[in-house]
Amino acid sequence: MAPGIYSRCHTNILILKMNTPCFQNFIDGQWCDSSDGKIFENRNPANWNELLGTFPLSTKEDVNRAANAALEAFRDWRLVPAPERGDIMRRAGEIMLRRKNEIAEIMTREMGKPLTETKGDVQEGIDTAFYCATEGRRMFGINTPSELRNKLNLSFRVPIGVCGLITPWNFPMAIPTWNIFPGLVAGNTFVFKPAEDTPWTANVLVEILIEAGLPKGCLNLVHGAGDVVGTAITEHPLIRAISFTGSNATGAIVAQSCGILTKHVCLEMGGKNAQIVMEDADLDLAIEGVLWGAFGTTGQRCTATSRLILHEKIHDEMIARLVERASKLRLGNGLDATTDVGPIINEKQRKNIERYVKIGKEEGAKCILGGKIAEGRAGSTDLRDGWFFQPTIFTGVTPQMRIAKEEIFGPVLSVLACRSLEEAIEINNSVIYGLSSSIYTQDINRAMIAARDLEAGITYINAATIGAEAHMPFGGVKATGNGHREGGWAVFDFYTEWKSVYIDYSGKLQRAQIDNA
Ligand code: NAD
Repeated sequence: MAPGIYSRCHTNILILKMNTPCFQNFIDGQWCDSSDGKIFENRNPANWNELLGTFPLSTKEDVNRAANAALEAFRDWRLVPAPERGDIMRRAGEIMLRRKNEIAEIMTREMGKPLTETKGDVQEGIDTAFYCATEGRRMFGINTPSELRNKLNLSFRVPIGVCGLITPWNFPMAIPTWNIFPGLVAGNTFVFKPAEDTPWTANVLVEILIEAGLPKGCLNLVHGAGDVVGTAITEHPLIRAISFTGSNATGAIVAQSCGILTKHVCLEMGGKNAQIVMEDADLDLAIEGVLWGAFGTTGQRCTATSRLILHEKIHDEMIARLVERASKLRLGNGLDATTDVGPIINEKQRKNIERYVKIGKEEGAKCILGGKIAEGRAGSTDLRDGWFFQPTIFTGVTPQMRIAKEEIFGPVLSVLACRSLEEAIEINNSVIYGLSSSIYTQDINRAMIAARDLEAGITYINAATIGAEAHMPFGGVKATGNGHREGGWAVFDFYTEWKSVYIDYSGKLQRAQIDNA
């Protein structure tokens, strides 16, 4: 979202300015404005006339204060026993559970997806909180025998220090909690910059952690533009690790800075995920899967199904049934119980989707459903007030077409045909990305070959490309990421360093590789 009004908020607490809540940063345990008082607007994508609040358009100086506060807090936080740190996450999870409906409503208002989905987003945060609370009692180290007598070798995890977290808008609670909860349990502290489109959810997360008892300085929230606040976080010398989730274009900039500055960096980026349907599949199940995978969250998930690879024997039947079902999906405000598909996040992204529909037509693919900006009314919602786009299906797509290769990040499904499992896998693997994948088949042998050969961080058998669980490793291969994983035990590999300790109780000098030769 482009920065909007520019004016000053005069207090450290939430104030009302012309009935508009004026939200703040949270640095060193204090709510505060940006150092130069500038602000930006947060509006509802389902109704652009609804101004939800203003947020600080922060500066490099704000990031500097946040990084220093995080470093100061780290000195003590790293010494707090991990189970005690975990208890704070448990309390955070309990608070989220209590506030689940309220938080989901805030999220739906600021980013548009239906309430059922925002409740799922909050639930992922709750699951992560409880998982991380117990992980505070594990975080196992590895002890090995020494090659020398009377000597003990230990290796255990230690925190890195101050971590920078830069997040997108599509999972405004799940993605920050996937990082902040395990990162804190591991003993790190944070400077957190959420997406400009979902700043409110970030403030709610901070409120929750304050109530849960997190000491000041451990989590610092700095709102603002990516090229100012994001850059300042990436380049700040006190920030030792960066976790970035977002587009490949931005990830490349972040990776370059982190490489030069030798920082740890975790990159979670784009996807072009496919659902394969073989001729022996349960088609009813496959249709449910693709409807959910392609049009859930209006196709704006990194794991969304943007390609459907159909065996030629069931191609036509599947298309006919899919179009029939997809044409009945109800667009609307995510707060309405009848809504299946919410708006696109903002005007820029909707223009991008329109551009890809044009490209698809020019490439010779056939647009058999949708393809246009949605108009008309849905209940009390005038669709022209929001950034709505019709669920769209292209057939006759070939692997070489741009709509088969590039991430569109919207409700646009490209259908490709295949003659065999081998060809389906080849098509799946022909893109630069490798996040999620799915195959529908009743044949266990084919399922196992697909699980082995699909180039993706995640493979679902007889399930949609979306649906990651909080306690499992999450991330992708190839251009989707840089080899790290979020979620489960794997995220602790990113948020900790290994410390090796040798204890020599022989009472004499023992020289490894020499005295045992
Ligand atoms: P984006 O790259 O535009 O923005 C992501 C974040 O980076 C935002 O907070 C933004 O302000 C910040 N940013 C922008 N410029 C920056 C810079 N120069 N330096 C540092 N930070 C900067 O992405 P988006 O549009 O918000 O999100 C959509 C993308 O995110 C899609 O490509 C999607 O696939 C990806 N995504 C990936 C995952 C995953 O886990 N792999 C999950 C969700 C979204």
